[in-house]
Amino acid sequence: MSLSLAAQADEFNEAIKDSPPEVGKAAPTTVSLLRGVIDPDSGEWQDTAVVREMTGEDEEELARLSTKEDVTYADYTTALLRRAVLSIGTQSIKGNQSVLESLIIGDRDLLFLGVIKATYGNVRSFSVTCGHCSKSSDVRVNLDEDFPVQQPKGSVTEARVVELKDGTEVKVKYLTGKDAQIIAALDGNAAEQNTAIVAHAVIWDDDRSDKVKTQWSRALSMSDRKVIITTVLDDQPGPTLEEVEAPCGHCDENIVMLLDWASLLLG
Ligand SMILES: [Zn+2]
Repeated sequence: MSLSLAAQADEFNEAIKDSPPEVGKAAPTTVSLLRGVIDPDSGEWQDTAVVREMTGEDEEELARLSTKEDVTYADYTTALLRRAVLSIGTQSIKGNQSVLESLIIGDRDLLFLGVIKATYGNVRSFSVTCGHCSKSSDVRVNLDEDFPVQQPKGSVTEARVVELKDGTEVKVKYLTGKDAQIIAALDGNAAEQNTAIVAHAVIWDDDRSDKVKTQWSRALSMSDRKVIITTVLDDQPGPTLEEVEAPCGHCDENIVMLLDWASLLLG
């Protein structure tokens, strides 16, 4: 585990101004979200969250979860965020975890990265085998630089309007963590996933059931489904996982490392 003490020191000094941290506990870290959640009192969007570093207890709990079958990334993130996110805006997460479900996927990914940073610092090193000389080198991943944040095409607090073939307009929302969990749990083929994305992305004026939404999505023409799905998938703001490249320490070639969320957390 590599921990950048200098990077942590600044945050620690910032945090200590407000309230002295408990002995043995790291200072909380703030995360700026793309959209955040609506404060129930003021009706305003709040986009600053506070996360804490993960402990051995968290590690044990997440390890227990990862041994279960059919655990999706969405389930895993939900478990992690429930433990390590302390508050969003004025709302405390303890006993109020539905707040996490209303976050857009990109905000959940930003919180995930925030927890990683609070736990390990901004830079993580991974031992990677070079594809050319088969020797092992350290690849440094900078959590601030190696995760470019895709910005929303329009206002992330407003629904996007899609016109269907017959001229009807439907409003399409940014998918939330809850939507992602439902879609991932389906474990269906691509067409069934598309049905679920359309069913959950369209905003309904009435309070219809998931079953009715799914029926509507299935009855929709393939071209209308495509327009809705493209709107959802082409405009998904949030941090993106890219390949990280570093020179091999043993030969003249570059090592290309494909990061995934699990290795970022537990690797
Ligand atoms: Zn090499």
